Amino acid sequence: MKDTHKHRGMRNKLVELLEAKGIQDKKVLNAIRTIPRHLFLDSSFEDHAYQDKAFPISAEQTISQPYTVAFQTELLQVKPNDKILEIGTGSGYQTAVLLHLKARVYTIERQLELFKKTRLFFNKMHYRPKKMIFGDGYKGLPEEAPFDSIIVTAGAPEVPKPLMSQLKVGGRLVIPVGTDEQVMTLFVRKSEKEFEKKELGAFRFVPLLEDKN
Ligand code: SAH
Repeated sequence: MKDTHKHRGMRNKLVELLEAKGIQDKKVLNAIRTIPRHLFLDSSFEDHAYQDKAFPISAEQTISQPYTVAFQTELLQVKPNDKILEIGTGSGYQTAVLLHLKARVYTIERQLELFKKTRLFFNKMHYRPKKMIFGDGYKGLPEEAPFDSIIVTAGAPEVPKPLMSQLKVGGRLVIPVGTDEQVMTLFVRKSEKEFEKKELGAFRFVPLLEDKN
């Protein structure tokens, strides 16, 4: 598990690319410049880590494209100590970005194999989310609500109602909505009953799956 000069060089290049694609938040760019994304992939795929591409991880899932991670994170406007719920831990890369921004992160993953693998990896790396939960993120995490923000990293056919209700007033929900292709959608909770909605372009994610039992 090494992070070399070469890796840092590739990350600097990646950050330049993300800036060229429109990412402006310096703290987000700095997180990407710092976090060793290659360690979130199996070592044989290391060379792919700093291309701006999604990549297969285990259990038919993918690590999100760096641009997508940066774009979603920027929309969250993370402040230190924010209490954030993440649906779809996956490789843990998005989680690591949120931790780097000093958020308190609660993250849920429904694939047991991935959940265990990422938990071990986090222990090794000393990444410390507040909670890692094995379960169905469709329901959110009512016992820890409300959250300053909620990020969904899988494509949701529709917006799960519990996620809306678990947001603080002033809080932000960033969620890709759609089946074949998703529209990145930002909800800002204006009051108990009012949400402002913005649609911010097309993306492609693996599906958010609901556990029916
Ligand atoms: N943030 C991750 C993205 C992984 S892809 C990364 O950058 O690596 C999306 C993840 O969402 C997958 O790991 C998938 O298993 C998980 N997922 C899908 N439906 C879910 C649900 N209902 N609850 C929790 N996790 C879910």
